[in-house]
Amino acid sequence: MITERAVEQLPPEIKPLYITHQAFIAEHSVDPDLWRVADLKNARGDEPPNHFLDIDFEEGSTAPFLNVPRDYDEYVRKYGIGPTTRYGRLPWRAEEIYNRLVDAMKQLGRPDAPYAADNARYLLAVLAHYIEDAHQPLHGALNYDGQMTNQRGIHARFETQMILRDRTAWKWTPRPVQVITDFKAFMFKTVVDSQQLVASLLAADLKATEGREWYDDAYFAVLTKEAGPMAERRMNEAATAVASAAYSAWIAAGRPAIPAEGERTPARIRR
Ligand SMILES: [Zn+2]
Repeated sequence: MITERAVEQLPPEIKPLYITHQAFIAEHSVDPDLWRVADLKNARGDEPPNHFLDIDFEEGSTAPFLNVPRDYDEYVRKYGIGPTTRYGRLPWRAEEIYNRLVDAMKQLGRPDAPYAADNARYLLAVLAHYIEDAHQPLHGALNYDGQMTNQRGIHARFETQMILRDRTAWKWTPRPVQVITDFKAFMFKTVVDSQQLVASLLAADLKATEGREWYDDAYFAVLTKEAGPMAERRMNEAATAVASAAYSAWIAAGRPAIPAEGERTPARIRR
């Protein structure tokens, strides 16, 4: 849902590259979750830690959590590879994919890079996943499933069950697309903002469970009333962030011309 909206709100300069492949991009934006299932590895290790950063992991630390180095190597040096694998590496993974998207944009229209446009579309799908994960409050906190406060399962109740009970209930109000000049800093800010929303989300869950034995309709009615507006805002911010990332990658690549659809396919028969 979020990725579909993101593609719709792309600025006109780059929209033609993506909008005709909107369904492809939306569908493939879930691929990184499948890589997790398939146990695919990447340069830094397993896939799961790419989807979160429990930025509040250090006891007593507070926002904006500058105790967590923004440089990946420094982060690993400070806490060790074991702990950092447990706490996650989402901003760095998103930055890696963003840089690959910039590279693909730079290659647009070059005769020796016939797949640049296809690569850009796929990389945007993958990037969308990580950006959207970063907007989900529980992807930025150690208590990511309420396991530390006896609220286990809140992760899925919030991001899946509550959202899908009535997917038409969510209002989409596109915000202005921004030029992101420091993508990693943007990702860190997104994660910090997410972490700041966790306390109110857990409070909403607590209120909704009060006096109830089951996660029934009444539970979700209260959860939706309490946490729904925040979820809606984060989904909208995520859509705009994905559109902003796509736009920023194009600018970082030097505003390449967007090739017309079909141009890369050589004619089979000379006429
Ligand atoms: Zn994910």
